[in-house]
Amino acid sequence: MKLVSQPRLTIVVPCYNEEPVLQASAQVLNGILQKLVTTNQVRSDSKILFVDDGSQDTTWDLITQLGHQDAVFTGLKFSRNYGQESALIAGMEVANHYSDLIITIDADLQDDPHIIPDMVAQSQQGIDVVYGVRNDRASDSWFKRTSAEGFYWFMKKLGVELVPNHSDFRLLTSRVVTALMTCKETNPFIRGIIPQLGFPSARLYYKRQPRQAGESKYPLHKMIQFALNGILSFSIAPIRMVLYFGLLVCGGALAMLIWILIQHAHGDVVTGWSSIMLSVWFLGGFQLIAISIIGEYVGRTFTEVKHRPRFIIQTDTYSKTFKSTEPT
Ligand code: UDP
Ligand code: MG
Repeated sequence: MKLVSQPRLTIVVPCYNEEPVLQASAQVLNGILQKLVTTNQVRSDSKILFVDDGSQDTTWDLITQLGHQDAVFTGLKFSRNYGQESALIAGMEVANHYSDLIITIDADLQDDPHIIPDMVAQSQQGIDVVYGVRNDRASDSWFKRTSAEGFYWFMKKLGVELVPNHSDFRLLTSRVVTALMTCKETNPFIRGIIPQLGFPSARLYYKRQPRQAGESKYPLHKMIQFALNGILSFSIAPIRMVLYFGLLVCGGALAMLIWILIQHAHGDVVTGWSSIMLSVWFLGGFQLIAISIIGEYVGRTFTEVKHRPRFIIQTDTYSKTFKSTEPT
């Protein structure tokens, strides 16, 4: 990879009703960014980009005020609340036109922004993806910790590669963001897509802090929606489970058939019982298998319509050789 000696960095911050924390977060992030600028690690026109995800409070007013005070602060405003993933995608897409490096971080600074300089340093070593990983989730509630552990366990069982205890605090180089933007699905599960893209990556560990002010924007129903999106957009394994269960039921029916025949031979069976039980079991099993076959086709259609790229090229020395000698 061609390293940009002094990259332009954009820090993308999704914000949904973050009025109580925004000012303080903006100052902390800018302090860290300006240190990087004065030490010539990033360009002086690096930016902090707040994406207002349809907040109902004064978040957008605060963002515009910050912009008037200092041109380092910029913003995008959604027409309504689309969700954190959409805010991240929008911020990254816009920032990628002008940046060499993009860092995404939550507005509440639960994730430690002080590792940002280390992230930038890693990128200067040729690393394209630097994951911020929490080594301590003590600040999260018992329920959040346990449900997160369950989620990572289940995703691993489904064969989806995720970075455990990593949320949306990460650095990406421009070429990774460009690759990410080729995944056009409407409900992208960014945490699952990025490891799939490949590219050299590293992890940096930090201690997750409690939210400084305001409250979590992830009530239970949003957490369930998020987890379901992760599971369903990466795997058709739940459909397979239905198939295996159907086969199990049919196997059970077959065993029952043998048992019933033996009972018949002994002549101690209640009339009508065998035919009812066998039809219930066989039909049940057969229906499950039939549903799972339809599901397999639906699953395939689902995978196709996402139009994920078939491959991503990291380096191409072939095309470059022709650039200067275009055919006439
Ligand atoms: N967020 C967003 N849109 C939403 C929900 C959340 O942009 O619909 C932002 C939010 O402002 C914050 C980040 O996503 O910057 C993470 O949200 P939060 O801190 O509430 O999540 P938690 O830390 O509780 O998991
Ligand atoms: Mg938070």
